[in-house]
Amino acid sequence: MNCPFLKEAHVRGCTAAPVRKLIVEGQDPGAAELCSSPAHAECRVFRERAEANGGARCQFLDEQLVQYCSVAPVKKYIPYSESIISRCGGNNYQYCSLYLALAQPGYTHRAAGDDRDPVVEGVRVPQRLYYAPNHMWLNVGENGSCHIGVDGFLARLMGGLEHISYVAMKGVKRPAVTLTVEGMMWPLMFPNEIMISGVNQYLRSNPERLAADPYGSGWLFEGWESPGRQAAHGLLTGGQAVDWMTQEMERLTEFAHGCAAGNAGELGLVLNDGGAPDAGMLNQMGSDDVARLFNDFFCPQASWSRP
Ligand code: SF4
Ligand code: SF4
Repeated sequence: MNCPFLKEAHVRGCTAAPVRKLIVEGQDPGAAELCSSPAHAECRVFRERAEANGGARCQFLDEQLVQYCSVAPVKKYIPYSESIISRCGGNNYQYCSLYLALAQPGYTHRAAGDDRDPVVEGVRVPQRLYYAPNHMWLNVGENGSCHIGVDGFLARLMGGLEHISYVAMKGVKRPAVTLTVEGMMWPLMFPNEIMISGVNQYLRSNPERLAADPYGSGWLFEGWESPGRQAAHGLLTGGQAVDWMTQEMERLTEFAHGCAAGNAGELGLVLNDGGAPDAGMLNQMGSDDVARLFNDFFCPQASWSRP
């Protein structure tokens, strides 16, 4: 399925004109008629370039089927043959910020899940996604398209996210990013390689979206499965992911209590209400504890925790 805002059109262009101008079928019938009829012999550009009089239609007339976004402020026509890799085809459109803003404001997308998904201590675990041990998620489409982000567990601690810096932006690589939180830099790396085709540039100026909508407009990377490599290799999904998330939430609560006992300070106040740790927890922790938290839960070498 393609984006409902993705439209098709026949466009005509002149390969002889010094400045290439595309004419969309139906928009300028007069020009189209000139080029596709014997009257083209009267065209100044034709007379300057042609070595012989043409036939029924101009030899410089180029026609092709294109696709374009009907809601974009500036229309860009993409040759139909490239549509398969366009971000608007397949299921990729579900991550387009323009689509998300216009289709159904407030709506995210199917892969991001909904109220039917399991919730662990307030953290939603969308069933369609795969999860890595360092709390990054993967969505793989039937056509091999990939989107990657951070899960609700990590996003909950990112309330003070100040900056996002992408380490890898193109090519066959392990997607990597550096998050700056409370003045500290947290490197994150997805465990498997994909062919990265783009990153969510919107997050650079609006990093708060990562915490606000981690499974939707807060996505980080997009791309394709590398030939011969499964992007979801070694990741968890479905019920296994829910069990793991439950363990992780317990582990985080234990970690926070351990810090509170060590500091005998304000962190205890954060946890005494019986609630799960959240973004406020980082404010109350010393830098050594924050670094330990990252190493225990989110570092690139993180492995599956055991009950
Ligand atoms: S008649 Fe031929 S040369 Fe003139 S604008 Fe049309 S395509 Fe170009
Ligand atoms: S740019 Fe976005 S809204 Fe426009 S057609 Fe593509 S996916 Fe749809």
